[in-house]
Amino acid sequence: MKRIGLMGGTFDPVHYGHLVTAEQAYYQFDLDKVVFVPSGQPPHKMGKQITSREHRYMMTVLATTSNPHFEVSSIEVDRSGPSYAIDTVRAFRDRYGYDAGLYFITGADAILEMLEWKDSDALLELCEFIAATRPGYALHSDRIEQIFGHRANKIHFLEVPALAISSTDIRERLKDGRPIRYLLPDMVINYIELVGLYRE
Ligand code: ATP
Ligand code: MG
Repeated sequence: MKRIGLMGGTFDPVHYGHLVTAEQAYYQFDLDKVVFVPSGQPPHKMGKQITSREHRYMMTVLATTSNPHFEVSSIEVDRSGPSYAIDTVRAFRDRYGYDAGLYFITGADAILEMLEWKDSDALLELCEFIAATRPGYALHSDRIEQIFGHRANKIHFLEVPALAISSTDIRERLKDGRPIRYLLPDMVINYIELVGLYRE
């Protein structure tokens, strides 16, 4: 039976925090692969200015090509309207069948907001969640049990080497002309420079 990790995100831009989290999930949960799913239109970032989906998708492809068990799906960038996880997970369920293990990977910040996502009840029926530690966000099992109740057994914890890296910080650094090297892959940095992303 296949065991698939789904790493959703805006990836504006993708960085080593995302990559280390995905790799650790792959290893610890014995996954066959991790599929990165760049969001088309993130529902929780409506009204905020984000980089075009084509550029975010391209950067995600560049960041993951060197890893044979990482893949990128264009399912959300190809879909119009808000990108809801429920639609994506349903599509993966249809594709891999009901016996497959589907693991939606999120950071500590995202898991705490998950119940606000569209059809979160159905989502918890359709897949399991991997909640990764992230610097600056507390992740306590008590809190998860309090929030998720009897569904807490669908949330698995993952300890990730702490990387206090965020896309927000990278964008601010680029705007201010501060260094971003070693926070994300060189291929992505080259792409950002070539296209001229994140300049004022
Ligand atoms: P932004 O600052 O623009 O929100 P971000 O760095 O949070 O960007 P996202 O694309 O929003 O990146 O995150 C995608 C997923 O990756 C989320 O589940 C998030 O919690 C997780 N994630 C992001 N950065 C890290 C990190 N440094 N360590 C662990 N998980 C992370
Ligand atoms: Mg974020």
